[in-house]
Amino acid sequence: MVNYKELGLVNTKEMFAKAVAGGYAIPAFNFNNMEQLQAIIMAAAETKSPVILQVSKGARNYANQTLLRYMAEGAVEYAKELGWENPQIVLHLDHGDSFETCKSCVDMGFSSVMIDASSKPFEENIAITKQVVEYAHQHGVTVEAELGVLAGVEDEVAAEESHYTKPEEVIEFATRTGCDSLAISIGTSHGAYKFKPEQCTLDPQTGRLVPPPLAFDVLHEVEAKLPGFPIVLHGSSSVPQDEVDTINKFGGKLEAAVGIPEEQLREASKSAVCKINIDSDSRLAMTAAIRKTMAENPAEFDPRKYLTPARESMKKLYIHKIVNVLGSDGKAL
Ligand SMILES: [Zn+2]
Repeated sequence: MVNYKELGLVNTKEMFAKAVAGGYAIPAFNFNNMEQLQAIIMAAAETKSPVILQVSKGARNYANQTLLRYMAEGAVEYAKELGWENPQIVLHLDHGDSFETCKSCVDMGFSSVMIDASSKPFEENIAITKQVVEYAHQHGVTVEAELGVLAGVEDEVAAEESHYTKPEEVIEFATRTGCDSLAISIGTSHGAYKFKPEQCTLDPQTGRLVPPPLAFDVLHEVEAKLPGFPIVLHGSSSVPQDEVDTINKFGGKLEAAVGIPEEQLREASKSAVCKINIDSDSRLAMTAAIRKTMAENPAEFDPRKYLTPARESMKKLYIHKIVNVLGSDGKAL
């Protein structure tokens, strides 16, 4: 049993309160390997932005939960080496599927966990979330819960269709569970294929698909019901078209990949939305850089030679998100 404080991590309590009051959002970036983690920490240290390192079920299967925990501990020390005196780093379980999974993460030093029982009936979601909250809070660990269902695929999380969060349910849910933040469904979606082409309109100038707008009316209703309560957006990659083009130019085959426009995320950041999850964009940046480097240097076989530009590209992306989309730069001096 190790407490996150011993690892130099922080929970989300104060971070979210400041973000809601300050009209910005904290980036939650998923990590699965060293290069991704290095890029995240370099970007956060350079911009002095608080950051949430997210570990999904897929990441735990791929890289091992214990190893990822030690990598996050190393990340705190690495951040200090980079000159970030007081790194504000959260280690967060993304989409915890059961009390047991959440408990094991709390016990091994995670500072925040998500229990996602959103696919269960309302009362069951409340019961499971409450159980996680009671355990996590004994150890100072903050809990994110989810109400409403997102469409799309994110590792093991798949839903055929999305159901917007019902604003009338949020007060009861937050009060009865005691959760610290709430992921809601307002039209964001997991993965790089967030919308079917028939859901989109065509921009005649660029020939690109334009996705349907986020349901800001639902967000504002939720905000009105629970003033100041931290809201989380999942599935908020924007799927940069230049990365998609690079991937396709160098042998990839991504068709009709569509994300959430950054202007809408910037607008959401100014509201009670205080955590925005971005995963696919980093995957796209990494894949584009690797494909390009390999295509242009076919004799290269040293992974460091194609992972260095991939890491640089991810770092650039993370800095762009922090500074231009979420506005969290300079908030963890
Ligand atoms: Zn998610």
